[in-house]
Amino acid sequence: MESSVADILPFKKKKPSSKGKTLCANNHHKWKVDIARQFDVKKGQLVTRYVCERCGRQKIKSH
Ligand SMILES: [Zn+2]
Repeated sequence: MESSVADILPFKKKKPSSKGKTLCANNHHKWKVDIARQFDVKKGQLVTRYVCERCGRQKIKSH
């Protein structure tokens, strides 16, 4: 018997980014602390800046 491999399914590529955008759209961001810019010079106080790894959205939490 000869087995055939003629039926090659097209490579299915899952896009995790699209799912992430859906999460971001529902306000479920993947916040990551931006350590490099923790100190806000303008305000002259220590703040923690968060950046969403998926959509790049930022939020700042002051201390
Ligand atoms: Zn996001």
